[in-house]
Amino acid sequence: MARVWIRGGRVLDPASGWDGPADVVLEDGRIAAVAPGLAPEGAEVFDASGCWVAPGLVDLHAHLREPGQEYKEDIASGGRAAVAGGFTTVACMANTDPVNDDPSVTDYILDRARQDSPARVRPIAAATKGLKGEVMTEMVALGQAGAVAFSDDGKTIMDSGVQRRVLEYSRLADKPVIVHAEDRTLVRDGVVNEGPVSTRLGLPGNPAAAEAVHVARDLLLAELTGAHLHVAHVSTAAAVGLLREARARGIHVTAEATPHHLTLTDEAALGFDTNTKMAPPLRSRADVRACREGLADGTIDAIATDHAPHAVHEKEVEFTAAPPGVIGFETALAVVLELVREGALTPLQLVAALTWNPARILRLPAGRLERGAPGDVVVVDPAARWLYDPAKGFSKSRNSPWAGRTLEGRALATFVAGRLVYHADRGVLAP
Ligand SMILES: [Zn+2]
Repeated sequence: MARVWIRGGRVLDPASGWDGPADVVLEDGRIAAVAPGLAPEGAEVFDASGCWVAPGLVDLHAHLREPGQEYKEDIASGGRAAVAGGFTTVACMANTDPVNDDPSVTDYILDRARQDSPARVRPIAAATKGLKGEVMTEMVALGQAGAVAFSDDGKTIMDSGVQRRVLEYSRLADKPVIVHAEDRTLVRDGVVNEGPVSTRLGLPGNPAAAEAVHVARDLLLAELTGAHLHVAHVSTAAAVGLLREARARGIHVTAEATPHHLTLTDEAALGFDTNTKMAPPLRSRADVRACREGLADGTIDAIATDHAPHAVHEKEVEFTAAPPGVIGFETALAVVLELVREGALTPLQLVAALTWNPARILRLPAGRLERGAPGDVVVVDPAARWLYDPAKGFSKSRNSPWAGRTLEGRALATFVAGRLVYHADRGVLAP
């Protein structure tokens, strides 16, 4: 197999703490060497001068819509969009049709991914059958089939007794339980953050407490069971506070935030753009600040896209009727680079939140640039300015709040298993 020499970049490897000039050599699908001034013989040279060289990005929360909703996205299109955004591994949620609550569905997803996707795909299995919140799935069997976590994402397990059992059994499979923390009895028909914006828009509000109440319950259950709880898309200052306190008490909890919750407020919804409707909703300025602080101090470990494709006809309806969610693979990196430019995070902290931390949460051998690790690398041009047009992107869907915006920073090249699978000028190159 070809040998690749990624030369002259600024290498950012959070696992080792290295931030400085170095070359990276890929060979036989793996990282062969990382050091300044390498000169491997017979290697194909990739000039990374002026760029960051980081482990391929790991997204622990995405919706690829296959099987069942291929008109929104499929594993092939989602995988192409992922590598175009610099992601080399994506974990896909179980709310497909059929639901990934059975090893046969897990097998199907992995099989499609091997054939169709340039990105590695890691399925997340449902925690309860049919995402109904009633009967647990066969977690050990699902884990053996390749599921990396359990989640009823999109739905919340409201029955605390069921949630306790899910957490207990997840320990047997040694995988995290990922929770979409929204108390449905508090959310009711809320579609935007409850506050001045919901009042102005005359739309039903979803209170911050809907998230915090649920996070509080699940932290207590994680403490009771000793299980690994992972809180998805944290959006409120109240939840960040609860997580910080729980971590200080030694509860095994990790958390993620999305690019949109880290950079947009509920005011983005003032124009009734349904591409600003998500679950949980965009929150207040104080909530955004708290999420950023949580990311900076390690209360929030990871940045995850919650890439959630929906067709144009589904989003082009009135705000209350539109499905929640936005696509995110191709914009995530540029959007969160804003946190570095504003001084909220160091480049190494940002890269950690996109690579090493999510890889560790899912116990994956990814997210680091160590000799022998998978040859998954992204070359980032942090200064590239580009106009984002979802119609020209790789996702089948276009539901992005950043459509038509000029963004700064992008993946210049993405390598998976030592192979160039994406180049900004040449597009997706494989499979
Ligand atoms: Zn969710």
